[in-house]
Amino acid sequence: MVTFQMSMSDAPPPAAPGTATCARCDKPLTDADRVLAVDRAFCRSCYETLTFELQQAMTRMSQDINYPLAALGAALGGAAGALAWWGFTVLTQFGFGLIAVVIGFLAGHGAVRFAGGKRSAGLQAIAVVAGTLAFLVATYLVNMSFVNQVLHERGEGWRVPFPPDSLETLYRVIALNFGVMKLVFLAIVVYEAWVIPRPPKLALAT
Ligand SMILES: [Zn+2]
Repeated sequence: MVTFQMSMSDAPPPAAPGTATCARCDKPLTDADRVLAVDRAFCRSCYETLTFELQQAMTRMSQDINYPLAALGAALGGAAGALAWWGFTVLTQFGFGLIAVVIGFLAGHGAVRFAGGKRSAGLQAIAVVAGTLAFLVATYLVNMSFVNQVLHERGEGWRVPFPPDSLETLYRVIALNFGVMKLVFLAIVVYEAWVIPRPPKLALAT
């Protein structure tokens, strides 16, 4: 085998391998009848067939979704993430907020799994709502534990309750230490819950 080098400026554009015939029907391709898709070439009619089939598959992916079941999955995922964060904090006595990020991950995957692997904008919305609520509940639980520990050490007779006895209690406990980092974690939760159930983009041709 003989190899030789050419300088970049002299080199002709390399012929793309496998673009002489259609990857689906083996028909020889002309320049006018060649569509490049990802790493292959197709004749126009094959390309149209494939695009149509792909569109059908994409439509099915976002159709007939059992939304109540998907909401249950997102809620369970969010709850599992919230419990993981809260449990870690109670066990280690250390508020490691980054763990909160699993809430978004689990809410997103919960929605997709319980919807039978489907993806849609509706599932994205469900996962974002579930992830956000779970994040707020988890923030409440973590703060509740820390505050109750202080109350216990001081010999106080009252405790922060769960569930909160009013919306005001919920708000005040969450707002205790809701700073920039919490906002960043919440943004990551929302981002993950939004991205995981997102339908893939239809992009066959390059
Ligand atoms: Zn073809």
